Amino acid sequence: MTVVGLGPMGRAMARAFLDAGHGVTVWNRTASRADALVAGGAVLASSIEDALRPNDLVILSLTDYEAMYAVLEPATSELSGRVIVNLSSDTPEKTRAGARWITAHGGTHITGGVTVPPSGIGSRDSYTFYSGPREAFERHRSTLEALTTTDYRGEEPGIAALMYQIGMVMFWTSMLGHWQAIALADAHGLSAQDILPHATATMASLPEFLAFYTKRIDAGDHDGDVDRLAMGMASVEHVLHTNADAGVDTTLPAAVAELFRRGMNAGHGSDSFSSLVEQLKKHV
Ligand code: NDP
Repeated sequence: MTVVGLGPMGRAMARAFLDAGHGVTVWNRTASRADALVAGGAVLASSIEDALRPNDLVILSLTDYEAMYAVLEPATSELSGRVIVNLSSDTPEKTRAGARWITAHGGTHITGGVTVPPSGIGSRDSYTFYSGPREAFERHRSTLEALTTTDYRGEEPGIAALMYQIGMVMFWTSMLGHWQAIALADAHGLSAQDILPHATATMASLPEFLAFYTKRIDAGDHDGDVDRLAMGMASVEHVLHTNADAGVDTTLPAAVAELFRRGMNAGHGSDSFSSLVEQLKKHV
């Protein structure tokens, strides 16, 4: 196959395909990023057209969909009959538009959402969401499994991107929570390493909360029998004031407190803090 885009992710993917015994043609705007891959047996194409021509299966690993247009625009005549597996991340809307664009040029677009960093490529413990035409996906499934296991979500092109974004909204906010904790610790002379065991235990406790509240949320049950929003409000204000007293940035704890306050103002003080889900949902 052909791999277009050799950032850390594209390089890990090309390497995994080589390790699985596939012939790999690569292309990247900055050609020097292909050096180690070429030493490992990949063929570096001298133009994007030459990269597309030899293979029916083309993997894109670019920063976003804008980069896809920038790269493929000069070579649209080569898209016809090819399956473009786009493992660049972007919004579901942009992936739908990208799929229409590839289709209009006679190609088949499969959206991918890779859920692991480059170090997870090549592992059976990793998974990637895919969506797009079923037949084309099934034809290439076993090849794609050299990267990670596959989680096919149906033909709608945006759904793989949506599943990816669902993971990312959790990832970025959780990691930012950790950066906040480190900043607070630092203000008191503690290093990131000092708090690592406590941080890890705190994060490791979350799956239990997810499982417990998921059942109730799907049943529309926000009973305050286990926790009450009013208790949570007091707690997030302690968090906010602890950070303010330490002189660290309070943007994140203030935003959390603001969401709790909205729930309180809407009269949910005696309900569980899971009732905040209702504040966050789309209101039509
Ligand atoms: P990078 O942004 O580091 O690399 C992206 C590639 O896109 C590079 O090859 C770069 O070329 C190319 N590129 C960007 N803009 C243009 C342009 N205008 N024209 C031509 N080429 C362009 O991303 P990663 O390799 O880290 O990731 C690739 C994709 O995978 C991203 O969409 C990312 O969100 C997703 N992903 C990444 C993860 C990670 O941990 N890295 C985890 C999960 C998903 P050049 O080398 O010339 O700059």
